[in-house]
Amino acid sequence: MHLMVVGGAGYIGSHTVRQLLAAGHSVTVLDNLSSGHREALPKDAHLIVADLLDPPALKAALLSAKPDAVIHFAALIEVGESMRSPGRYYQNNVTGSLNLFQAIVETRKIPLVFSSTAAVYGDAESVPIPENAPKRPTSTYGHSKWMVEQILHDFGVAHGLPYTVLRYFNVCGAAPNHTIGEDHPNKTHLIELALLTALGQREKMFVNGTDYPTPDGTCVRDYVHVLDLADAHVLAVQALSGGAVSGQAFNVGLGHGFSVRQVLDAVDAVVGTPLTREEGPRRAGDPPSLVADPSRIKGELGFDPKFTDLNGIVQTAWDWHRTHPHGFKS
Ligand code: UDP
Repeated sequence: MHLMVVGGAGYIGSHTVRQLLAAGHSVTVLDNLSSGHREALPKDAHLIVADLLDPPALKAALLSAKPDAVIHFAALIEVGESMRSPGRYYQNNVTGSLNLFQAIVETRKIPLVFSSTAAVYGDAESVPIPENAPKRPTSTYGHSKWMVEQILHDFGVAHGLPYTVLRYFNVCGAAPNHTIGEDHPNKTHLIELALLTALGQREKMFVNGTDYPTPDGTCVRDYVHVLDLADAHVLAVQALSGGAVSGQAFNVGLGHGFSVRQVLDAVDAVVGTPLTREEGPRRAGDPPSLVADPSRIKGELGFDPKFTDLNGIVQTAWDWHRTHPHGFKS
């Protein structure tokens, strides 16, 4: 198949581009390069630089690339920033996605895989979380993704647009050959920040809240390796294009969680020296515990994660950061 990967120069997108090419597909990336990196793309992926807030450019890209399916990653992703700048998040994530879906139905009504998030569940009643759990996002980021899921539902009903939603839990790690990895303009993710602290780029790690209703008082998350997540996209787009039922949402996680303290312990073990930690207040918008029930994606798409050990996952991220201490500019 020929895939258009929207946001394909970003962290998850660029790993997915590699896995799609490895599976024998061809790829056109559409990205505005606001947070993605040209350097993250292999030579055989064609890049169109365009913005989701530019509908004519989207239609032109779809008409010129003639993809068989689209995978849509492009979004702003920071929970904390989304609480401070909701307008920016709704414009980029909701209006941008709406523009893309409209362009698809007006040009080629091709299948679409959409990147959603565990943040749509918000304060979950219990974990692990199945896909039909109530959607009660606690952040603007989570709201923006849930709104897009609802827009997709309506496009499916009205226009017959085939789509699959993947709800990611906490994505981390890097390609084990450490050629690509996490490099966001604003660093907010726990493992990336901890490893940059280990490299001496920051003084210490702040633990955001120690009074949550969790076993050690810090937030619990389900950490899934970026290559396993990339493989989930390959499985999803192949199944949807092969006629699988449209409109399904799948959790992508391992099904067990680690607390902030446990993650920092894993970082200490991989790096070999303990980081200085300071316990601080909660971060706005953070739910206490997000752990996937991944049985649907395992059963229906054959998702079979390879990176199941937290230290092993952190090791791949550490190999990327220590060989690229300043990311793609290293
Ligand atoms: N966190 C932390 N210190 C940091 C960065 C993150 O304690 O320097 C916490 C954060 O508040 C959350 C968890 O680590 O409870 C995971 O946050 P991250 O931003 O990595 O992912 P999110 O769950 O927001 O997608």
